[in-house]
Amino acid sequence: MKGHRTQETRGKLAMSFLFPPSEPIALPIVGTEKRYPVHRVYCVGRNYAAHAVEMGYDPAKSPPFFFQKNPDNLDLSGIFPYPAETTDVHHEIELVTALGSGGSNIRLEDALDHVLGYAVGLDMTRRDLQDEAKRLGRPWEAAKAFERSAPIGPLCLASETGHLAKGSIWLEVNGVRRQDADLEQMIWKVPEMIAYISRFFELRAGDLIFSGTPSGVGAVSRGDRLVGGVAGLGELSVEVI
Ligand code: MN
Repeated sequence: MKGHRTQETRGKLAMSFLFPPSEPIALPIVGTEKRYPVHRVYCVGRNYAAHAVEMGYDPAKSPPFFFQKNPDNLDLSGIFPYPAETTDVHHEIELVTALGSGGSNIRLEDALDHVLGYAVGLDMTRRDLQDEAKRLGRPWEAAKAFERSAPIGPLCLASETGHLAKGSIWLEVNGVRRQDADLEQMIWKVPEMIAYISRFFELRAGDLIFSGTPSGVGAVSRGDRLVGGVAGLGELSVEVI
């Protein structure tokens, strides 16, 4: 009876929307017909020492930190339309961790139990707007959380790939290798990111964590073909139009 009432209430709520609510954002999962519904998208900054250095920071004095993109910034199309209000869009290839469960104050030793799988993602960045935001002490949304700013590949289940702590992460632009590193160079490992973020936010199934990018970031232009990958996860291919 209780379940019946709940359904009835949901029905009334649905009828009360002024306009149709947004479609759920979901990722395909390799090897299954089911899709992974996305809740939040967390992103780690400066998680590879060489990238912190190329951005002008001392990695020893600049601990990693977090920002967010919007779930509907994720894009599976393989097309990246060059965005407005910028002349300096950069590629950042990243390992993406997908949670299958969550919580607050997750212990380091329990963190990997919450990982459902991994994907290859791009944290596309309007670098000129980010530089301005840094200079003025303003937030990063305009630089990071714009439409289609997070091209991503399908989710690979950790039960198939194992947990990823080392292995190649790379990106080529028009066949030229621009980013080339190993996951073991991450300053904060996947379990550390999960444990740390869960101190500030309640993590949930459906949360994605972009793990930060290695050095070699650079500008893209219309017509560029970006192909990147992480060992064990396959490749992500994106055309800039
Ligand atoms: Mn990034």
